[in-house]
Amino acid sequence: MNVTLSAIEGKVVSIINETTRNLTTLKTWVSIPDDSDFSIYNLPFGIFSVGENELKAGIAIGEQIVALSALATLGLLEVDASYFKQSTLNDFISLGKSITNKVRLDVQRLLVLENSPLKNHPEVFVSQSDAKMHLPVHVGDYTDFYSSIEHATNVGKMFRDPENALLPNWRHIPVGYHGRASSIVVSGTNINRPMGQVKPNSEELPSFKPSENLDFELEMGFVVGKSTELGERVSTKNAAEHIFGLVLFNDWSARDIQKWEYVPLGPFLGKSFASSMSPWIVTLEALEPFKVQGPEQKPEVLSYLQYEGEHNYDIQLEVGMSSPNSDERIISNSNFKYMYWNMMQQLAHHTVNGCNLNVGDVMASGTISGKDESSFGSLLEISWGGKKPFELSDGSTRTFIEDNDTITMRGFAEKDGIKVGFGEVSGTILPSK
Ligand code: CA
Repeated sequence: MNVTLSAIEGKVVSIINETTRNLTTLKTWVSIPDDSDFSIYNLPFGIFSVGENELKAGIAIGEQIVALSALATLGLLEVDASYFKQSTLNDFISLGKSITNKVRLDVQRLLVLENSPLKNHPEVFVSQSDAKMHLPVHVGDYTDFYSSIEHATNVGKMFRDPENALLPNWRHIPVGYHGRASSIVVSGTNINRPMGQVKPNSEELPSFKPSENLDFELEMGFVVGKSTELGERVSTKNAAEHIFGLVLFNDWSARDIQKWEYVPLGPFLGKSFASSMSPWIVTLEALEPFKVQGPEQKPEVLSYLQYEGEHNYDIQLEVGMSSPNSDERIISNSNFKYMYWNMMQQLAHHTVNGCNLNVGDVMASGTISGKDESSFGSLLEISWGGKKPFELSDGSTRTFIEDNDTITMRGFAEKDGIKVGFGEVSGTILPSK
């Protein structure tokens, strides 16, 4: 370990203890906006590049990025710089939480210390406005759950029985499906409207056309941080060890394609054309102070799905919609804490049959809707199946997404004046190719 750091080890331990559990005030010497998502308590990991230079790993602080390879080269981190000169975080994450947490806390310390050696090295900071963000991990596998009871109930009311909206399995199983990893893109990537086969009603024959019911789904995703062997099961108790961190996730959905294709095997081309994720992975540790109790689960779940403690997270979410002629209108305000099934249960269920996990796998929550109409997490619900148009600021109306519309999702947790945010995941829909 670097001599400068060893000398302040005592101080380090106290700062670490204070920041991981309690919301003790920490002050960084880096100038950051008061309402920044990327406070000294957050320090999310991402992959960035500047100009034509190589992709590198960084940590966000305020409006800047700390280049981790530069810190490692200066001898300020206990990880070799080569881990941070890669186009994904997979190898770094694979080092395990004892290392990755320490890197984050070492950076936190360096950004807090009055006599920080970084003050003499402005070159380790890159302005976020000068950087291009990339997908932070190579996603080998992507699973999408369906864990909001409000969303599942709304969809059930629309498409099945308003009196028995939830299917019989819903309160017993965290329902999910295996999604398509190859089409996960980073925020800012434009999406072409998907073409596909649709059959709007029982009279018409199927036809091939651009989707007319293009939708978003407000979700959060978590990135797997620890692999498992085939045959191994993860318990709800140990699940947190396998979660590196969280991102905002937009599971774009073509409702008309989905409606015709989904029986009997579930979502396919109506989902696989694209999913967008935010570039900064907020660690589970940074979210620790924002844990809350989840909703009561009735009937009692099977033992492998039972859990102790608080595993929901109070993360405020919003969705904005804009067009070339219309400023952004916020069309949903939801919260990740509404989830009926928590991430620990999702992981326990995912691995209960022995299915193995790999570092970098992404598991998304499913659309996060609340009880009120203002908290619905998809246009399917907001426009109630296309029956209730709403206005954008230029007076034009929408039920689903039109070409050149932009959807932007944001999220943050805040408590006692301390904010940990995700930035945003944004995407614009372009005409079909
Ligand atoms: Ca979904």
